[in-house]
Amino acid sequence: MVQLVIASGKGGTGKTMLAANIAYCLSQTVETTLADCDVEEPNVHLFLPSEYDESPVCVANPVVDRDACTLCGQCADFCRYGALVVMQDRVFFNPSLCHSCGGCMLVCPEHAISETPRKIGTIEVRKPSSSLKIVTGRLNEGEVAVPAIISAVKNSVGKDENVIIDGPPGTACPVIETLHGADVCILVTEPTPFGLHDLAIAADVAEQLGVPACVVINKSDGRDEDIVAFCDQRKLPLLLRIPYSREWARVQGEGDLIVRHSLEWQDTFSRLFEEACNCRRAAE
Ligand code: SF4
Ligand code: SF4
Repeated sequence: MVQLVIASGKGGTGKTMLAANIAYCLSQTVETTLADCDVEEPNVHLFLPSEYDESPVCVANPVVDRDACTLCGQCADFCRYGALVVMQDRVFFNPSLCHSCGGCMLVCPEHAISETPRKIGTIEVRKPSSSLKIVTGRLNEGEVAVPAIISAVKNSVGKDENVIIDGPPGTACPVIETLHGADVCILVTEPTPFGLHDLAIAADVAEQLGVPACVVINKSDGRDEDIVAFCDQRKLPLLLRIPYSREWARVQGEGDLIVRHSLEWQDTFSRLFEEACNCRRAAE
């Protein structure tokens, strides 16, 4: 079973479209999970709407016992995120800065700190067909603990099925959390100088994490030479060019999947998954 991440250096390159189309094709023959790790703006489920079950994602936050606290300041000194400030009569806690490391609890000499759970988001599970499951992570507005929700999404996916993950945009810690432990990733890019710049950064991140990467060019206008040269130079397999099409833009704009309209592209996306699996095997 394979865990395939669809990533890109930035948003808007078509990774959600790719993830949803590949997962839909795969689910025609095998049990498949489509996981949405773009937890600040999840939208993969919009392509495959259905009822869902929701469960909370919580993090542990410190609570200070004011009777036991001597205002010594050790907890605030320890917290590198500035979530604790010792005031004249109490310790002030800012939950939006806390990374739930538990360190303040350990360093308090008076054992005045305990932990309490705080809900930061949700996991939604949908079953649009008998062989396709969608797991969506959703971070509450104003919260910053993106990796905690991504980790909850990844813990919610099955071990015995193929998992297609729609990754978050960019190349910062949410992407690193998403790529961690993946078998292979597809980097989606556009044939523009910005696309190439973001592709280069994303390829570096995947390489440093030891995740085999391959490339898909989306909205290709046929002038992809720079991307092709980059892939050659970095020995990244270029698996597919998807041409720009007004018709497809319309289909996607209506929240529909390309593979529902074209048998030819059903084959193409199914083959794309197999070829990505081959990249993983070649890297072993
Ligand atoms: S749990 Fe960690 S991040 Fe949160 S307040 Fe304590 S030391 Fe700071
Ligand atoms: S380390 Fe403990 S005793 Fe010291 S200020 Fe923090 S909570 Fe109070």
